[in-house]
Amino acid sequence: MGTFKAIVIDRSEAGQTVERRDFDEADLMEGDVVVRVVYSTLNYKDGLALTGKAPVVRRFPMIPGVDLAGTVEHSAHPEFKPGDSVVLNGWGLGETHLGAYAQKVRVRGDWLIHLPRGLSLFQSMAIGTAGYTAMLSVMAIERHGLRCQKGPAIVTGAAGGVGSVAIALLARAGWHVVASTGRPQEADYLRLLGASEIIERSELAGPARPLGKERWCAGIDTVGSHTLANVLSMTKYGGAIAACGLAGGMALPTSVAPFILRGVSLLGIDSVMTPRALRLEAWSRLARELDLAKLETMTTSIPLDQVMEAGRAIVEGKVRGRIVVEID
Ligand code: NDP
Repeated sequence: MGTFKAIVIDRSEAGQTVERRDFDEADLMEGDVVVRVVYSTLNYKDGLALTGKAPVVRRFPMIPGVDLAGTVEHSAHPEFKPGDSVVLNGWGLGETHLGAYAQKVRVRGDWLIHLPRGLSLFQSMAIGTAGYTAMLSVMAIERHGLRCQKGPAIVTGAAGGVGSVAIALLARAGWHVVASTGRPQEADYLRLLGASEIIERSELAGPARPLGKERWCAGIDTVGSHTLANVLSMTKYGGAIAACGLAGGMALPTSVAPFILRGVSLLGIDSVMTPRALRLEAWSRLARELDLAKLETMTTSIPLDQVMEAGRAIVEGKVRGRIVVEID
């Protein structure tokens, strides 16, 4: 057994430490597949783990990183063999199970999916948990029976990772997309992705009235708190909002008015424990429906050494689109 390069979060009496160091293969966790990680990504949750801003990490030492794309090295799982290109999102990676900011992981084969046809390893991580969550949100809106003919769709936290992919997916499906952002300087970027209208984050930031003017019939909210409350109060009769994020806070200071007077629905989205069948559907739709030129526009890449700095930037709302982390 040897060692491999990893970012390691540890805890001491002085607080949390994060460093790049060699990690012993013997200390890898249980699993039936060993994967050589080629790329990971930076999601908001990775930023929370790296900065210690929220209790994302549930065991120490922990290797953060909730997403990986790589190549199978060893497998005792019937569906995977050495050399296979695979993708993993969530399932506790980087939270309870040693994660992806490392050259190697040992994981349960049941958590892996084969790299979707039509995507490279790099592109799969440009999408990452953020993009796959955007697709889960679109699918939830569609399951609710909503289509673009019914009216506009709002995306909050528009210039972030989930927001950027959500705009591209909704625009491709024909929706008139209203993008809410705190970064008006990103208006051209958001229009390029497919936003038809851009509104200031501050419009949705104050305490919500029980019911506001009806403005959209669907939405993907990555912000939570007053923003989600305002989005709900401005949702048209029979509409639905997919709630997937908390970039603005955990609270939901709303009333029952949108639900009982306008029949509005709140659709909860969790990407971490999503059952395999739904994951496979989301990924195959991403491979078919996401415009890869737009994906390239929204993606930058960084070496592993820079994740600590990038982690601080993402929790401060300073990252645009998606960041791929190059492991080797
Ligand atoms: P990003 O940081 O890339 O995007 C978040 C965006 O929210 C920012 O870019 C910014 O957009 C906006 N924002 C940031 N801070 C605030 C604030 N204080 N008030 C209002 N808006 C703010 O993160 P991700 O796209 O990776 O994740 C977005 C959210 O979704 C996170 O809360 C994350 O935890 C959650 N998430 C949940 C998943 C699930 O399974 N439910 C899976 C993936 C993500 P702008 O500048 O345009 O306003």
